[in-house]
Amino acid sequence: MASLKRTIQMDTLLQDSREHFRKRMLKKALVAAQIALDFARKEGSPEDVFTTCILLARIFSVNARYAMNGLFYKKAEAFLEEAESLNWVPEPEFKVRLLHAKADIKGFQVKVNEASEDLNLALAIAQKNILKEEEIKLLVSYAYLEMTAGNYEHSMQLSDQALDTFREFFDYEKNKSLAAEVYTQMAQVLVKKADYYHALEFGQLLLSISRELNDTEKEINALMVMAIVSATKANYKIAMQYFQEALVKSQNIGYQQSTVDCLINMATIYAHLYNYDDALARYNEVLENYRSQLDDASLIAIYNNVGNIYASKEEPDVAHPYFEKALILAEKNNLVPEASLAKAHLSRVCTAQGEIRKATELALEAAKSFNELGLINGSQINLLNLAELSYRQGDLDQAAELAMMGKEAAEKLLDDSSQIKAWQLLAAIFEKKGDFPKAHTYLKEFVKRSEAFSKMQLNRQFLDLEIKNALREKQKEIEQLTKENEYQALLLEKGDQIKKQNDELLQMNEDLKQFAYVASHDLKEPLRMIGSYAQIITRIYGDKLDDNAKTYFGYITEGVTRMNHLLDALLKYTTVGKSDEEFEELELNYIVDIVKVHLKVLIEESGAQITVDELPDVYSGKSLLILLMQNLLSNAIKFRKPDIPPQIHISASQNDEFVTVKVQDNGIGIAKEHLDRIFVIFQRLHARSEYEGTGIGLAICQRICQRLGGKIWVESEPGKGSSFYFSLPVHPLES
Ligand code: ADP
Repeated sequence: MASLKRTIQMDTLLQDSREHFRKRMLKKALVAAQIALDFARKEGSPEDVFTTCILLARIFSVNARYAMNGLFYKKAEAFLEEAESLNWVPEPEFKVRLLHAKADIKGFQVKVNEASEDLNLALAIAQKNILKEEEIKLLVSYAYLEMTAGNYEHSMQLSDQALDTFREFFDYEKNKSLAAEVYTQMAQVLVKKADYYHALEFGQLLLSISRELNDTEKEINALMVMAIVSATKANYKIAMQYFQEALVKSQNIGYQQSTVDCLINMATIYAHLYNYDDALARYNEVLENYRSQLDDASLIAIYNNVGNIYASKEEPDVAHPYFEKALILAEKNNLVPEASLAKAHLSRVCTAQGEIRKATELALEAAKSFNELGLINGSQINLLNLAELSYRQGDLDQAAELAMMGKEAAEKLLDDSSQIKAWQLLAAIFEKKGDFPKAHTYLKEFVKRSEAFSKMQLNRQFLDLEIKNALREKQKEIEQLTKENEYQALLLEKGDQIKKQNDELLQMNEDLKQFAYVASHDLKEPLRMIGSYAQIITRIYGDKLDDNAKTYFGYITEGVTRMNHLLDALLKYTTVGKSDEEFEELELNYIVDIVKVHLKVLIEESGAQITVDELPDVYSGKSLLILLMQNLLSNAIKFRKPDIPPQIHISASQNDEFVTVKVQDNGIGIAKEHLDRIFVIFQRLHARSEYEGTGIGLAICQRICQRLGGKIWVESEPGKGSSFYFSLPVHPLES
């Protein structure tokens, strides 16, 4: 009886501990395993003690990895010693486990050679005794080890071998936990090898199994893989959602390494989207809370990135110390490319600070190493910087030569913003040289590119706003799930919830307002400057300018006007529905009549026939509804087939919940693959010379519909015309 009782208690404790361990609830796992060990030492068999010691060693080594604390490895090692010292000859299976646990600890301590020795030994025993499960687990560990050591090819081979063995000997449905181990490794090594297509496949598989198994660490791994793959495909919104989820989960289980990885990745994406504040917040969190856990290479990258952000924000005094720190660390570690990059940045910042001597010194030093290193990132910055320094010192020929080289390097390195800088600098240099035709050519290129660049920048900022919103949603979702899991939902008073939602909405509005401000002031101001100077030059130097130059100035003015229109449209977009317009019951037929008056000229010129059914009333803001209808009608006329007058029909249907309005035309239609895209701001399907427009109309329509609690969509076929639909709630909320 006693022994049966013992077995049951031991088994229960070990099972509990393993279960907690799997979910990475390390404290609980530890408590259960420690009680089990007390039991085993007092009344258990050597096998009990052995098994429990191995489990404890594994718990401690994971704990060491999570908390990035080496002391836990010592504890893990002590348990392994206890297991080894037992007066008991273990079966091959146990021998393999002991070696495996030892190798894992050495692997985490980056003792790669020792670890692979143990693994090879263990693999030989496992293969000889046909212990397939152990073999697969060993292969996975070995592959992981090689991956962290940078030997991706070998790691890939080992991962493939693990996968093949699994497929040959195991039934997936009955061995999902083992499958998850193999998939984790596969997904990670595929990312390292930049085979994103297959990484995604394994990432997805892993995500679903880990959720099914409630295995948080693997779920985090899967989320990170998906995030990285999405980011490489420029799907930043999705990438950020995955990172956010991985971050929250890593923090929950105290997994510091992946917490740091998530924060750094998110910061990098934010910086890419020109959201400097959020990027800085995350970099700072890493620097403040996890600094001691970063290796020097990561620290250098972070210092350089933070410095760059401040340099872009035109705060050279703040940027300066960051580049300085990056430089010191890079030199300490003998990392020449990193040190040269830091010097190039530092020189740029010194130029901005007016410290010309120091700037020149640094740039020359950097140039020397870049010459030896060949064309790598940073050389373009340094060349342009040297060009600017020569320009300032009046050596125009050298400045021109350097700027040209900088431009070419920037082109090869696909660095748009340096290219723009180069064109601007070249224009200034040639203007000073008195070579106006050349200066104009460069200026024209500069204006064209900066226009495209600002547009891209705006697009990214919009994407950033979308991401903000999506992350809030995701955060809410995660919080909600956590709450449900912990039965805490009841604690949240309804009032609190509403307050929270209101706060979030206010914050969103704040963000948009902020954006509108940036768009209107910060962007319009330099634009005005370009426009005015172009006019001044034509006025003052009018007779000296040849015809070409005059045409070019014409282009500038035209570009400025177009950009102004874009900005106005953008402002309209951000402020749509911001007014305190009263909502009222409106006759749709009356709204259509108003719109027809607004579009009178367009209708007459195009010979458009507009037929309108009897339409229901809707409850809405008048100007919003007019704007919505007007955008749809003017598009229906604008995108007509050449030589065929537009025929437009407006109809509506209604059920208990929604009024749905249809605007049907006989125009050029839209290909299936573009149907979603056209509602995204600035997305257009045609060249401006074909059909005028800014690409903002439908984005506004979508916002209006969202604001009114409805939605908008389109059905269309190329050559057969389009039908735009929007639906509005019959009983909208008063808000
Ligand atoms: P814009 O009209 O200023 O270019 P919109 O946001 O209104 O911008 O429309 C986006 C794109 O959607 C247009 O450039 C056009 O390619 C397509 N589109 C919109 N309405 C129609 C329509 N009725 N028929 C065909 N294409 C359309």
